[in-house]
Amino acid sequence: MKTSNDLTKLLYSIDRRGYPAYKSTRGSYRFDGYLLSIDHVQGDPFASPSAVSVTVRGTDAGFPKDFYDTRWRRIALQDHLLRRFGALAADASRRTGSGKSGLITVSRPGQEILERSACHIAADGSVTVRFHIGFPAHGRTIDGKALISILSNDLPQIVHQSIFCSALDPAALRQVLELADDQQYIREQLASRGLVAFLADGSILPRESGVSQRPMRGAVPFQSPASLSVTLDLPHRGPVTGMGIPRGITLIVGGGFHGKSTLLQALERGVYPHIPGDGRELVITDERAVKLRAEDGRSIVRTDISMFIGDLPGGKDTSCFSTENASGSTSQAAATVEALEAGASALLIDEDTSATNFMVRDELMQQVITAGQEPITPYIDRARELYERFGVSTVLAAGSSGAWFTPADVIIQMDTYVPYDITARAKEAAAGFGSQVRTLHPASPLPERVPLADSSFRGGCLKIRTSGTDGFSIDRETTDLRCLEQLTDSEQTASLARLLIYAEKHLMDGTRTFPQILDALEDLLTKKGPEGAIDSGYLTSGLAGVRRQDILAAFARCRKLRIR
Ligand code: ADP
Ligand code: MG
Repeated sequence: MKTSNDLTKLLYSIDRRGYPAYKSTRGSYRFDGYLLSIDHVQGDPFASPSAVSVTVRGTDAGFPKDFYDTRWRRIALQDHLLRRFGALAADASRRTGSGKSGLITVSRPGQEILERSACHIAADGSVTVRFHIGFPAHGRTIDGKALISILSNDLPQIVHQSIFCSALDPAALRQVLELADDQQYIREQLASRGLVAFLADGSILPRESGVSQRPMRGAVPFQSPASLSVTLDLPHRGPVTGMGIPRGITLIVGGGFHGKSTLLQALERGVYPHIPGDGRELVITDERAVKLRAEDGRSIVRTDISMFIGDLPGGKDTSCFSTENASGSTSQAAATVEALEAGASALLIDEDTSATNFMVRDELMQQVITAGQEPITPYIDRARELYERFGVSTVLAAGSSGAWFTPADVIIQMDTYVPYDITARAKEAAAGFGSQVRTLHPASPLPERVPLADSSFRGGCLKIRTSGTDGFSIDRETTDLRCLEQLTDSEQTASLARLLIYAEKHLMDGTRTFPQILDALEDLLTKKGPEGAIDSGYLTSGLAGVRRQDILAAFARCRKLRIR
């Protein structure tokens, strides 16, 4: 095995030579306490920086086995180490020449805790961190001494202060691991108590601003109404009381600006664990809950939306519906059906972002436009059936239609950010109006869709670009993900692009159904982590964990998707 000295010598020998000579540094080198691996060397100082990784053996890193022996603890610990590594790297990183010379970059996690390719703890306790270094140059002339300084001064300090147990603050570590246990416990309790979500009293739901996910300062803390309050005995914190949202149909009402959307957004994000201090760390939503919204303009491929949309003008078949340019209501119908196909347990809907005609149609309109003339069966008429027959709950934030009082099981009113249980009062008021929900023929079971590989994915070297959480493009074919509001991180977008290519190449063989493909991808992610989606080669960017619901939603928005 080559050592750090060998690398130093090599760098001296190529100092002041042309940039391509850096390529000879590829390989692994033993440093004091860790292995440094140069996995990919950039072609010039302005290209994406070089991919580097550091691995510390389990016995050296020194984390007790019970710090990483469950999946949730391992992911929380990985996240904690990565944040620490990132903070130290950001301090040390400085431009030393042309292009990206000298910059040390590593994934920057937000408020959510996701599994990431950037940090992995193996079963034997060894820790690997993957990051990027801009190999220094002046113009295109190698500055070998600057790289020696980074690799022998800066990096050892960063590594020794971030991924060795003895260097970390024990109290902070304990907080991270205990929170992970408590969050997991709440998640398990949701299932056994028949809840869609739990929001602990005292949680801070609103965010600092539309562009910052940090907690709002001076916000009104969350406080459950007595009738919905549930007390859970967390393994570390002990008894914690909060609001349990039961399975079924839950309606969140209230005047404008009273906190309905904020509550719903906290539920959307509650599918992920949050870091200590986020304010939502004890807001936990069933992992399979899916936010739905209208998205006109999207493409839909051979999707059975007949439970919501009947005969369209022009006789288009809605049991196998395709369009390149969906309307608000057809897009929301497709999103609902896709969520069912991906195994959603609950649908989260905000009337602010819904197609009104998809959600509800008032009585007067029903009298004037008879059922035969209106292709849309509004969601309100199917919500009960979705729960009873498909096991899918609904949580809806809607302030404008009292028609929802009839099908709702629980009605929560937000009043100046405080929830009140007004179920009894609202039901009583609704009784005077008679039911506004029509009884329908049951929807037919959804057909099993079998996707087919598209030849455009066969190429060896597909060019992938990602743009935040807005979407990705593969060989210039763009897939728009802006309406997948539960994607929180650009590394998830990168994973979705990779998973699509993986599925196109290996799984869409004309026999597997979507759920079977999702099973295979989930299995891959569980066994190999997010980097499992990479067939070969090195990581150009970090990848993060994604849910099967978001995988299917992304695939369904790809305009190259083909269904048998
Ligand atoms: P609605 O959907 O009922 O119209 P929003 O959820 O959009 O209301 O909230 C309106 C405003 O109130 C937002 O700017 C939000 O950040 C703020 N807000 C929400 N919850 C709280 C809270 N608990 N404390 C303080 N401000 C809040
Ligand atoms: Mg709102």
